[in-house]
Amino acid sequence: MNIEIISVGTELLLGDILNSNAQFLSREIANLGMNVYTQMTVGDNIDRLVDCFEFAFRRADIVITTGGLGPTTDDITKEGAAKYFNQELRLNEHYWKIILEKCAKFSGDISKVPANNIRQAMFPEESTIIPNNNGTAPGAIFAKDGKKIIVLPGPPREMKAMFRENVLPLLISESKEIIKSKYIRFFGIGESSLELKLIDLLNSQTNPTMALYAKEGEVLIRVTAKCKTSEECDLLIDGLVSKVEEICGEYIYLIGDESISDSQSELDTVVARMLVESGLKISIAESCTGGLIASSLISYPGISSSLMEGCVTYSNEAKIHRLGVNKDTLDKFGAVSRETAMEMAIGIAKSLGVDIGISTTGIAGPNGESEEKPIGLVYFGVYNRGEVYSIKRIFTGDRNMVRNRATKFALNEIRL
Ligand code: ATP
Ligand code: MG
Repeated sequence: MNIEIISVGTELLLGDILNSNAQFLSREIANLGMNVYTQMTVGDNIDRLVDCFEFAFRRADIVITTGGLGPTTDDITKEGAAKYFNQELRLNEHYWKIILEKCAKFSGDISKVPANNIRQAMFPEESTIIPNNNGTAPGAIFAKDGKKIIVLPGPPREMKAMFRENVLPLLISESKEIIKSKYIRFFGIGESSLELKLIDLLNSQTNPTMALYAKEGEVLIRVTAKCKTSEECDLLIDGLVSKVEEICGEYIYLIGDESISDSQSELDTVVARMLVESGLKISIAESCTGGLIASSLISYPGISSSLMEGCVTYSNEAKIHRLGVNKDTLDKFGAVSRETAMEMAIGIAKSLGVDIGISTTGIAGPNGESEEKPIGLVYFGVYNRGEVYSIKRIFTGDRNMVRNRATKFALNEIRL
């Protein structure tokens, strides 16, 4: 089944608001195993909307619109749908009464309800009206010759509720296949390097398919299968995920079912969970990351059994007095150095006698660089049950990007 989405509203074309309705609908529809071939956005103009319907129905069985169901004359979606199907909008007395009652709640008096609200109760007799439990404008399903136009209101809260309660059941009843996805999260490898490693798999896949997304220093692969049953989908997906694991398993930090729009990094959660489960105790001394590593771990409930302390030891004095870094080390090698990083890690670990001590010291920019110490240079110190080492990395980006990237790098180092 092919569905197309038309977002109606001049404010969308002006860039005043983000078209989150289309994103929501596309994802819901993909989850049902139906295709969305095109999303269109059109202003509040009847003729141009009719043009969009004509274009969409060259391929689509169903067109879903959002927006333009309000009471004002620039709300023209129903007029457009009625014109396309050559139907006539008529007053539906039952819904007019409901709308009047809802509006009177705001204005306090039915006689004060603006007359133009009546436009929200106008529907073709052939249509099925969808009640709106979160606002005034009802939606509707216009139908003719096997084609359907489902018109939903613009406000996302109203649109989503109507979609879930009334449109989803209709689509499910017409659906034959289902789509399922799994997400593989990578850290420590760039998008293009990963693509090169997986190029043969990427090129040969039709079902399941693989899509690569780069996000904030991480890469995400979505593996999607389309089958008649959920079990068939799982089999296909798991087969492909195993192949990906064989090729670049060392960079994978999570394989899960969660959706892409909730794709904030999961690295902090994975690391925090691992720490809690391992029973290891950790302390962190941060200079350039300024508490971000500790804060990332603290977002995980239950981390208190593992994270003992996080110190922001920003100045040389703090490094000396709080962590016991040698003044000579600072004088000789500087605060941003392998030696200082290691002494910081040892100092924070020894302070409360924990298993793991992590430290960061670096130049986040935009000032403070020198020829041998460029902006983005960060040293990480790791103390791990008696063993001490340091890692040097140069991150690109502005001050906050360097700090965020260094934080993720440190988290990944803890994971390993
Ligand atoms: P109203 O009765 O509020 O006029 P409507 O159905 O006519 O509702 P619009 O006027 O098109 O809808 O949009 C109302 C509001 O809904 C917009 O100002 C915007 O905040 C939000 N909105 C509309 N379309 C979208 C969209 N595609 N994505 C996200 N938000 C949207
Ligand atoms: Mg409107």
